[in-house]
Amino acid sequence: MSTIRLVPEPETTARQSLLELSRDELEAFLAAMGQPAFRARQIWEWIYTRYAASFAEMTNLPKELRQRLDAAATIAPLKLVTEIVSLDRNTVKALFMLPDGQTIEAVLMLYDQRRTLCISSQAGCAMGCTFCATAQGGLARNLTAGEIVAQVLYFARYLADPAMPPETDVERPTQVTNIVLMGMGEPMHNYKNVWTALRRLTDPAAFGLGARHITLSTVGLVPMIDRMAEEGLQIGLAVSLHAANDDLRTQLVPVNKGYGVEELLAAVRRYIDKTHRRVTFEYALMRGINDTPALAQELAARLQGILCHVNLIPLNPIPDSPYQPTSDEDTERFAQILRDAGIPTTVRLRRGIEINAGCGQLRRAVSA
Ligand code: SAH
Repeated sequence: MSTIRLVPEPETTARQSLLELSRDELEAFLAAMGQPAFRARQIWEWIYTRYAASFAEMTNLPKELRQRLDAAATIAPLKLVTEIVSLDRNTVKALFMLPDGQTIEAVLMLYDQRRTLCISSQAGCAMGCTFCATAQGGLARNLTAGEIVAQVLYFARYLADPAMPPETDVERPTQVTNIVLMGMGEPMHNYKNVWTALRRLTDPAAFGLGARHITLSTVGLVPMIDRMAEEGLQIGLAVSLHAANDDLRTQLVPVNKGYGVEELLAAVRRYIDKTHRRVTFEYALMRGINDTPALAQELAARLQGILCHVNLIPLNPIPDSPYQPTSDEDTERFAQILRDAGIPTTVRLRRGIEINAGCGQLRRAVSA
């Protein structure tokens, strides 16, 4: 494990983050500085296809303009606080400070072919899931669209830069290939900013990642699932189920009081009817709580006929938690029951656990 720690100060001057602006808004911003439209195109390219970290890098802009931009604007709303690399060097977790001093985490996972980035949508979370570390601190605030996009640009830059650590086991990766909205926060509770960010990330004229390479994970806010079905972007949907009956699910996922299992599954069916996309159900296995064969049968019965896939997550340890992970043997038994019932099931690979970079381990504090 290796750690870099810097101590950034919150921003004291209010500079316009250019990552909050659409292409047209950027043009207007530059026009107000007396600049022609082609400057917007140049700056847009520096940000979204060359992953520039500063105006100083934008060498095709006049030096005087770069200095003026530096005073009036920023393209780096996130300041790195710590960066931790796992022992196998294939997982990197970054803690960032936002301009107002709030902090968030994001995680990069290197696989043979994929470079998957797990990003946050909120500083903290209001959903209160009883097994999740992010829930313990509550919600500080929504992230802006620019703060969501900035996490991706940070790691895109990191991967493209041969001078950056780590030396990994896999071949030197150069691009972010997949993004999962599975970091801190509930993306559907910050719907507008999340979708502004998703459009920027998938826009071929901006970051340009294929929508099919992005997955949004939700605790199950039913009206927002219906809204997502209307977006017309092929972003994958994952639903954090964790239990197939209301009594148990309400204990684990308190929002289940508002949107029960039946209502949630009905929304997922509507989503599939509309999009014809396979939905993933996430299910974190907790010993003696939601991992019995009877509960596996119940889950299989409720998911019959739904175009889905179950992703079993070995529970990751978090401080002061009453829950223990299910053994590997019982995990396999649970998976087999689902498969025997015809439900495609996988067990999620554990990544970055010793650096607290696993599912549900992300916090607003410096944690590892
Ligand atoms: N709020 C969104 C996304 C963030 S969490 C959601 O609820 O889906 C990403 C996934 O990690 C969710 O399925 C969440 O339930 C799961 N998770 C939370 N805490 C966990 C823990 N301690 N161990 C394993 N998975 C956990």
